[in-house]
Amino acid sequence: MKAEDNPKANSALKKDDLIVITGAGGFIGGALARYFREQGFTRIRAVDKKALYQWYQHVPGVESLCLDLRYEDNCKRACEDAVEVYNLAADMGGMGFIERFRVECLRSVLINTHMIESAYRAGAQRYFFSSSACAYNVELQKDPNSRALRESDAYPAMAERGYGWEKLMSEIFCQEYWAERGLKTYIARFHNVYGPWGTWDGGREKAPAAICRKVIEAKGTGAGKIIIWGDGNQTRSFMYIDDCLDGIDMIMHCDELIATPINLGTSHMISINDLVSLAERIGGTTLKREYDLDAPQGVAGRNSDNTFIKQALNWEPSTPLEEGLKKTYAWIEQQYEDRKAGKRTVS
Ligand code: NAD
Repeated sequence: MKAEDNPKANSALKKDDLIVITGAGGFIGGALARYFREQGFTRIRAVDKKALYQWYQHVPGVESLCLDLRYEDNCKRACEDAVEVYNLAADMGGMGFIERFRVECLRSVLINTHMIESAYRAGAQRYFFSSSACAYNVELQKDPNSRALRESDAYPAMAERGYGWEKLMSEIFCQEYWAERGLKTYIARFHNVYGPWGTWDGGREKAPAAICRKVIEAKGTGAGKIIIWGDGNQTRSFMYIDDCLDGIDMIMHCDELIATPINLGTSHMISINDLVSLAERIGGTTLKREYDLDAPQGVAGRNSDNTFIKQALNWEPSTPLEEGLKKTYAWIEQQYEDRKAGKRTVS
């Protein structure tokens, strides 16, 4: 179901209202700019600190600004005349990045702090913040069979070091801007998002893209083996990008959800070993597995409890992992070939 068909997520947004999307040079922000453009919105401002040539997607008809949003003046510029603001900018990556660069992750608090104030001052009607399942109490995620996380499980707080605490603190900003200043804010806690146009190499990639790439590389080089981070028993759930976009749209336009953190993820939990098997099946190969027990692996088990989103929106992300991973694998394979051929690629 699309947001426009969902009576629980109705919006009075006009096609020429200005939508601002930050982090639009990256995976989800870039896909969101395309999503709104394809829905006929005519005024979309995409913002990212990366130079334009490094943006993953270029969406025709979208204003693209290169601004570092850790600085207040840049946030003011980004928010000028905004009706809706989607803040997806953050210095982030998969476990390999967030375990190693906790200061960089924490410093993203500057982005949300200045963006929400600028959105408020610009008179924006709605403000979206992309939080994360890393905001949940890590004590509840010590077993691969941990029960799925409910929204209330963020407290008592013991978030993932660095990245998770930044998300939790920024959520609090969103809640208080509503409570004290009446800015309508919306907070989605994303569980792993994957799909075409996502980071697939370079150190910031997440498990689905990394595993697809490793399978493709192993086939390409004939190495016949794959290195898995940890013992492979750790579990997660993975949401396809199209579900994430529909979810963002519905959450942002559901008045029941103002200032209320909500899970946005699938409730289908799978181990990393099984994810590797799936990628191998898609690639038509079987590889020898080697386990790097010293590599970053994050919590032992994490899944999304979707009771609340089903009740609030009568919807939950539902793209089967196999279907989404097939598309992702095919896209990464093409990227891999393009890179070998010396063409510019996303990474
Ligand atoms: P991404 O890294 O592809 O995109 C983030 C973008 O933000 C990048 O293009 C980066 O250049 C930009 N950025 C970083 N610092 C900036 C700054 N100071 N000023 C302007 N732009 C800046 O990541 P993504 O996967 O698209 O994630 C988008 C959002 O969703 C992030 O807030 C992330 O924390 C959140 N999230 C993502 C996932 C996931 O699985 N991808 C899971 C949970 C939460």
